[in-house]
Amino acid sequence: MSTTRTRFAPSPTGPLHMGNARTALFNYLFAKNQKGIFVLRIEDTDRERSKPEWEKDVLENLEWLGLKWNEGPFRQSERTELYKKHLEKLIEEKKAYYCYCLPDELEAQRQDQMSRGEAPRYTGTCRTAGDREGKPSVIRFLTVSKQITFQDLIRGKISFDTALLGDFVIAKDLETPLYNFSVVIDDNEMNITHVIRGEDHIPNTPKQILMQEALGLSQPQYAHLPLLLGEDRTKLSKRHGDNSVTKFREQGYLPEAAINFLSLLGWNPGDNREIFSLEQLIKEFSLKHIQKGGAIFNINRLNYINGYYLRKKSLKELTELCLPYFVHEGLIEPTWKEKSVAGANIVGGHLGWKLIQECIVTQTKEKISLTQLEHIVALYQERLQKVSDIVELTDFFFVKELDYPKELLQWKKATDEETKESLKQVENILEEIDQWDKENLEKIIMPKANAGKDRGYMLWPFRVALTGKKASAGPFEIAEVLGKEQTIQRVQDAQKKL
Ligand code: GLU
Ligand code: ZN
Repeated sequence: MSTTRTRFAPSPTGPLHMGNARTALFNYLFAKNQKGIFVLRIEDTDRERSKPEWEKDVLENLEWLGLKWNEGPFRQSERTELYKKHLEKLIEEKKAYYCYCLPDELEAQRQDQMSRGEAPRYTGTCRTAGDREGKPSVIRFLTVSKQITFQDLIRGKISFDTALLGDFVIAKDLETPLYNFSVVIDDNEMNITHVIRGEDHIPNTPKQILMQEALGLSQPQYAHLPLLLGEDRTKLSKRHGDNSVTKFREQGYLPEAAINFLSLLGWNPGDNREIFSLEQLIKEFSLKHIQKGGAIFNINRLNYINGYYLRKKSLKELTELCLPYFVHEGLIEPTWKEKSVAGANIVGGHLGWKLIQECIVTQTKEKISLTQLEHIVALYQERLQKVSDIVELTDFFFVKELDYPKELLQWKKATDEETKESLKQVENILEEIDQWDKENLEKIIMPKANAGKDRGYMLWPFRVALTGKKASAGPFEIAEVLGKEQTIQRVQDAQKKL
């Protein structure tokens, strides 16, 4: 049996988005599962819309996802001679021809066909036009009317009446082939055995098969993946927000989570397991378990999966991941000189542990050690869905003075006086505590809180005084990290508000 060879063939006309990343992943998984080869091909025949920066974005994000290609990247823009050779052959064999029709002539023909209720298509006016040198032209494929049937590995038998296609354009000129043509040449040259791509390419398949037949090339197997849908069940697009891989990366989604999530967009393991590493996916992946119907891009599921992987990180790793976000948001400043690296490097994932030995809290100018940062991060490891969440959850640790409305301190119907009284009581208790850890704080404060009619009267204003937030981790854990002096300071500040 021949080696399985798949390819990922993005057009570098925009950033890599999640939909394309899924296509890349499925091609990768299928190839690896079969111990085959995964080829990367950059389809940059559209010279105006293709940009080097988009190619760079595609390559970087594939690497970030860990989808290593075995061959390539091949660029179609560097293969013009090859396409030209085949175009000339088709023309010579009268299987393709120059068309000199002007745009308005074509438009008139189209209008006419539509008014008669026919599918608009080119009817072959120039099939016998001969060569009119110097005149503007395109190259059209001479479509033989017939029934084309192929066996899609996901969707089963698909049939097309090629008469509906008309003589379609395959190149602007000998040096400028269009997508459908260069794909056919390349899939053959690169010995691609399986073409796995989005369902939106189904209409291209009969055209590509016709050209394979005309050129005497063998036909790869096709598998068309289900569409990705937004939560509203319409085709996933920009309307649903920025779906670029870079965007997700910047927000602090992990590559292993992205892979896991993407794998479930249309594929399932045949049972209800949800967590898969890339290794496991390679073992288990099969086209048999791909659905035909659209796959919904459910952000809650991505958050859930990402949270799972974040909880698996060691505290050191997680803190390392959080650092650039703290720096980027201006909460802390690294003490080394090249400060600009920090903000710019969020996408890079982390700054590198060795780079930052120590930081300065921007507002207080006090030093903060990595161990202290670890303590802060530890409080929220369970709650993080994406790394960037850490900023909003922990910003209160880094401010000089908290800014919150005094009403937030109020538990149920407590008056200002009562609230102040509770805070004073807490302050007095805190002053007496020497062993400053959360267990001891809790052991000493809880009985006093429970002695009142409702422990919220003491614990709620205490926690708000420390955080300025409606929701946060508990007051004892936070107090431990803040330290005695800061804790008491904040409890005093709160009293002054009342
Ligand atoms: N370049 C095409 C695209 O980005 C993919 C072509 C194919 O997979 O056949 O949509
Ligand atoms: Zn014509």
